[in-house]
Amino acid sequence: MDNDCLFCRIVAGEIPATVVHETDTTLAFRDIDPKAPVHVLVIPKEHHADVVTLAQNDPAGSADLLAACAAVAELEGLTGDGYRVIFNVGAFGGQEVFHVHAHVVGGKPLGPMVSR
Ligand code: 5GP
Ligand code: ZN
Repeated sequence: MDNDCLFCRIVAGEIPATVVHETDTTLAFRDIDPKAPVHVLVIPKEHHADVVTLAQNDPAGSADLLAACAAVAELEGLTGDGYRVIFNVGAFGGQEVFHVHAHVVGGKPLGPMVSR
């Protein structure tokens, strides 16, 4: 655990979150500032800065994270209409929290992937 990391502190129970799904290796909770009717963050419990670091250092953890995203989409009723899974990476990607997290977003048409 990284004591300076917001999401490690959520995993440790030091900061409250609305948890919607949990496995031995992953935790999913609602984004504090949702950008759509459904906006859930899915994280590995272990600290990795971003999705690239996770993929390089923990392939099994990467698979667990994607499986948890699929489970969240199912639980949140998103699978029929479709949804988006987003990993922001680094400054140009708009990443603000440097503990890898997938955004599972849906519940309305989401429009273009990025604006020009
Ligand atoms: P990023 O920009 O790093 O991809 O996304 C970080 C996300 O974390 C943002 O969507 C932001 O709203 C969310 N967030 C920031 N602080 C908290 C918090 O304390 N609790 C929860 N649940 N979400 C947070
Ligand atoms: Zn962390």
